[in-house]
Amino acid sequence: MNFLDQNIVITGGTRGIGAGIAKSFLEKNAHVIATYAGNDERAQGFKASLGELGERLTLRKFDVSNKDAVGAFWNSVNEEFGQVHVLINNAGIRKDNILASLDEDSWDKVIDTNLKGTFLMSQGAVLNMMSKRYGRIINMSSIGGVLGLPGQSNYAASKAGQIAMAKTLSKEVGKRGITVNCVLPGFIETELIADLPEEQVKEYRAQVPLKRFGKVEEVAHAVMFLASKEAAYITGSTLEVTGGLNG
Ligand code: NAD
Repeated sequence: MNFLDQNIVITGGTRGIGAGIAKSFLEKNAHVIATYAGNDERAQGFKASLGELGERLTLRKFDVSNKDAVGAFWNSVNEEFGQVHVLINNAGIRKDNILASLDEDSWDKVIDTNLKGTFLMSQGAVLNMMSKRYGRIINMSSIGGVLGLPGQSNYAASKAGQIAMAKTLSKEVGKRGITVNCVLPGFIETELIADLPEEQVKEYRAQVPLKRFGKVEEVAHAVMFLASKEAAYITGSTLEVTGGLNG
């Protein structure tokens, strides 16, 4: 797989799984546009940590759930870089609580970031990709969107929504040479799940057939496969990266 001369957009691409994906694409010669929500220092630190590879990394800060900000992002990308070959809708948050106690704000923030953000970013990508008759859109969903873990009704709904959106969009843009797929990670060692209580971590790990949590690189490899030219006949599909924790 080689992504020479390809522009790859990764939302939430400066830490966790997104940073792992960004690094993998840079190692395969791509130009990566990594977006992030707020922490400039952190994003610059990631770029610096990449050494020479960082020369092909462009950083952009905006909220994926803000229509105007997403519009401004795509305008600038279209103007500055032209064709975008791959979009990875990776930005995501959790705000867990059992449904009986879940407040409206936690529902709205998670749905807005994970699902509306995927919609807004995909719309901009499709408009960029259609005329070139080539594109790869990959939604970073979650096995939680299929399993429905307790305390995650908002998160699971957003992640299941990403799968439904990808299936629908794949049928709308297939004739334009654009594929749309989802990756469903299980438990991956990042800050997103760093707040889980030790007991719960033990319990979850015991449920994973491979008896360990995954690494960001292991998700990145699955994403790169779906993003490659070689994956041309895969669309509207889901790829689980869960160590065997099936949906
Ligand atoms: P993380 O918290 O380390 O990173 C999340 C990224 O999303 C950050 O870069 C952040 O800046 C960005 N982000 C958050 N809100 C945003 C907003 N409104 N606008 C723009 N960017 C925003 O999380 P992670 O573990 O790397 O997760 C990445 C993706 O993988 C998420 O969609 C998550 O749901 C999914 N996922 C993670 C796991 C896991 O176990 N870590 C499992 C399944 C799915």
